[in-house]
Amino acid sequence: MEMLKNLDKIVNLCKARGLIFPGSDIYGGMGNTWDYGPVGVELKNNIKHAWWKRFVQEQSNVYGVDAAILMNPRVWDASGHTASFSDPKMDCKSCKQRFRADNLIEEHSKGKVSAEAMTNEEMEAYIADNKIKCPHCGNFNWSPIRQFKLMFETSRGTVEGEKDVVYLRPETAQGEFVNFLNVQRSMRAKVPFSIAQIGKAFRNEITPGNFIFRTIEFEQMELQNFCKEDDAMALYDTYKQKALQFVLDLGFKPDHFRFHDHEKLAHYAKAACDIQYLFPIGWEELNGIHHRSTWDLSRHQEYSGKPMTYLDPITNEKYIPNVIEYSIGADRLTLAVLCEAYDEETLENGETRVVMHFHPAIAPFKVAVLPLQKNLSDKAKEVYAMLSKEFRCEYDEAGSIGKRYRREDEIGTPFCVTIDFDTLENNTVTIRDRDTMEQIRLSIDELIPYIDKRIKFN
Ligand code: ATP
Repeated sequence: MEMLKNLDKIVNLCKARGLIFPGSDIYGGMGNTWDYGPVGVELKNNIKHAWWKRFVQEQSNVYGVDAAILMNPRVWDASGHTASFSDPKMDCKSCKQRFRADNLIEEHSKGKVSAEAMTNEEMEAYIADNKIKCPHCGNFNWSPIRQFKLMFETSRGTVEGEKDVVYLRPETAQGEFVNFLNVQRSMRAKVPFSIAQIGKAFRNEITPGNFIFRTIEFEQMELQNFCKEDDAMALYDTYKQKALQFVLDLGFKPDHFRFHDHEKLAHYAKAACDIQYLFPIGWEELNGIHHRSTWDLSRHQEYSGKPMTYLDPITNEKYIPNVIEYSIGADRLTLAVLCEAYDEETLENGETRVVMHFHPAIAPFKVAVLPLQKNLSDKAKEVYAMLSKEFRCEYDEAGSIGKRYRREDEIGTPFCVTIDFDTLENNTVTIRDRDTMEQIRLSIDELIPYIDKRIKFN
């Protein structure tokens, strides 16, 4: 219960401090949608930037793309989504609420029973044997399981009166696969190489979202690694480690993660694993790493009629590469970052401070400039103008200095620069560290290199 309470506190803080608001708030919201506010958009952009830096900028042979969200519907036939991208749903015939059958089982057994490998018949039998009741109205009055389509449909009319169904992509992956040949040829890429993308995906999720853990519109950060069959398993292991190292380098505690190997693999997959994070709602998937064999490219070859082969320039061998996929939700990682960073500290004077211990590289604002009194604001604005050329900064002159520090702590600003009367005399300022609350005096000229050094993500 204590853990769940923390999630509520985080949701409230996010709303009050401009990080994340309920979607369409003035209309009473809309289930499983959220809007990032002025502070949250900075945090999420920084997270995406740190990911791109680590996986695209710092690695060789990784090529970025930004593919269209709406794709030729044949793509979803090839990927198998039109045939089978659905969840097993049951309706409560008494209160008409809809639930995922696998979730009902897992929640009822408090996570002890996994429904991952169960058939629909097995799930129905388990629910009947254990008399699992509707979590909403408490009745036991279920419809049979039906598969509920997760893809959002829309339509486009290219010819008047005619409408074609198109889908909002449920994953970014296909944007990388359909560009395999374009990227390989235009960049003269040699296998092994990877295509990376950050972009929106849409899923008609009906289960409670738990804030931004599960939303109907979300962003994925993803890498498809194309390699030779013989190298695929080693690459899969490498990506498990790289994915873990990335989050550890963002300052997460190692014991908040565990690997979860999938019990049931898709028929084409050779291996699949999630990294789970200890969210306030329990251990849940943060990202996935999948050994997808030649499935994706073979299917696109079959459906598009274009050979998805690679000709090795040295051996002259022609083959369809294997794929190792690494995919992580930007919003789910943002939630993990918020949960990990949130802290309530009791200070020496007995007061409590709420502080977000974000890694400085992803903190929404790097530095806040605070004049001790209003009549120092000209000098403070000068310092702000100088710093904001380099960093995303805040300027705040409202309220006592203590209150202003607290406000910055709550949004995780790593440094506060205070302008006082000595600043006018000798061009020095105090700079306060968010985590230790220690203050040192620096000359204004030293500020940029001092901050720059401390906010690096390597
Ligand atoms: P889950 O089992 O939680 O539904 P999944 O296995 O369907 O996730 P993938 O299709 O592998 O997820 O997507 C890769 C990543 O995208 C996930 O690890 C997660 O971080 C993120 N993700 C997937 N679905 C959602 C969603 N509805 N809302 C937010 N993030 C999501």
